[in-house]
Amino acid sequence: MKNKEIIIGVDIGTTSTKAVVFGQNGKVLSSHAVDYPILHPQPSWAEQDPDVIFKAVIESINAVVTKTNIASQQIKTIGLSAAMHSLILLDSSGQLLTNCIIWTDNRSVAQAERILKEMNGLEIYKRTGTPIHPMSPLSKLLWFKEEMPQLFEKTYKFISIKEYVLYRLYNLFVVDYSVASATGLFCLDSLDWDSEVLRLLGISSDQLSNLVPTTHILTGMKKEWAQQIGIDPNIPVVIGASDGVLANIGVGAILPGEAAITIGTSGAVRTVSRKPKTDEKGRTFCYVLTKDHWIIGGPTNNGGILLRWLRDEFGGAEREVAKKLGIDSYDILTKYAEGVPAGSEGLLFLPFLSGERAPYWNANARGTFFGISLHHKREHFIRAVMEGVCMSILTVVQAISEITGSLSEIRVSGGFAKSTFWRQMLSDMMDQELYVPQTHEASALGAAVLALYSLGDISSLDMVKKWIRMTSHHYPNKGNNLVYRDLFHMYIRLYEKLKDEFDEIALFQQKYR
Ligand code: ADP
Repeated sequence: MKNKEIIIGVDIGTTSTKAVVFGQNGKVLSSHAVDYPILHPQPSWAEQDPDVIFKAVIESINAVVTKTNIASQQIKTIGLSAAMHSLILLDSSGQLLTNCIIWTDNRSVAQAERILKEMNGLEIYKRTGTPIHPMSPLSKLLWFKEEMPQLFEKTYKFISIKEYVLYRLYNLFVVDYSVASATGLFCLDSLDWDSEVLRLLGISSDQLSNLVPTTHILTGMKKEWAQQIGIDPNIPVVIGASDGVLANIGVGAILPGEAAITIGTSGAVRTVSRKPKTDEKGRTFCYVLTKDHWIIGGPTNNGGILLRWLRDEFGGAEREVAKKLGIDSYDILTKYAEGVPAGSEGLLFLPFLSGERAPYWNANARGTFFGISLHHKREHFIRAVMEGVCMSILTVVQAISEITGSLSEIRVSGGFAKSTFWRQMLSDMMDQELYVPQTHEASALGAAVLALYSLGDISSLDMVKKWIRMTSHHYPNKGNNLVYRDLFHMYIRLYEKLKDEFDEIALFQQKYR
């Protein structure tokens, strides 16, 4: 390997930090992940230890450098990706006042509701691009102000996990536009902190990090850490963006009209716009990738987790058989579902087992099987669940299309994409062709490509397309699509009709659980 040929992408995610070494043409040379736990000090809280994550960043980069036997001069650049929506409070000596409060933390449900109803939340969303929700640092900050005022008053800096890592590595408080654009505190038009939101919270921009573009280059890492990682402290480190928007680069969906659909545990649809765009109804997010690439999309809570729930709660027999035969229990479940026609012979499923984010943003929504009859067998239930997940994705696709125009090229990824049958179902449901890119750590690849772009080594992010091979391609089955159109109408109407009832059952569950 010649000098300056290696790029390292580092993705600071929710369950682990992964460092991936890319050689020429994006070839993955090695990767290493260091896992860490999510802490739940209270049932609805979700936190992580910032120092554990910092150590994971050091360890994961060091591991790939050692594993691949890389000399420091072979590394051209390192690009960073990080999870969105995290919040850490620091005091004036840089000491931690809190853990890292992560996106799944729900302590600020009441604050989010009040921002929306009493503080002109829709207008805040339209300026900042971040939906008003407990995931957003805006709601979490209001929670600290109201519930822990002493801590709030003592805070010198409010930062995210990526800022904490950079603070320890470089002794600087910097944040890229992308991570900032997912805080609910950042004005998309001015690319600056939103003064009205800061006023509402009673904080000043000095208490937040300095804003820089996602192409910003850092050098002069503290020697101690550079040594531990095993690199020269002056290797250019590109600050990069958030994991969601970088994943669009990583699957090659970076031109307007191109979209990435990921269904892992949860799900997301993301497309690209040349300009920031928000939704009159507040259904979608708008986050920065670069000043010419704005990622418009929507996350859903209910993706593959539903099939996992079905398998774990009702698929004991399948799990046993799978174990004996040494095959994947999901493959047995999906095989059953394949035996049932599209539409599950009139069994409809609303998949909101964990409430829902986009497009409804309704924490009280709940799952519903509708139309159950004596002819329905377990395979109908399996298929209905898989169809329900696809329909929730379709509702997000439709909301996005209203804002950006129709989506012309769709690339799918995540655990669901292991199933040819499930992918075909989504293609039929959407009446669109789907491509399946070969992805290996899409966000880390996105971080690496953005780093190359920042250094001027490539003139456009689209170049990544040459590096990404398609492993499969689906064409919609028109017959199935006709069935799904009818089913989808019922899905939308059923949600609307049940909206009030969902509030009641959620209340009931709170009271009697
Ligand atoms: P995460 O979001 O945690 O990274 P994954 O992307 O690995 O999760 O997705 C996990 C989900 O993918 C599972 O819950 C399951 O619904 C789905 N899945 C995994 N393997 C298969 C399979 N062979 N067939 C169908 N679905 C699968």
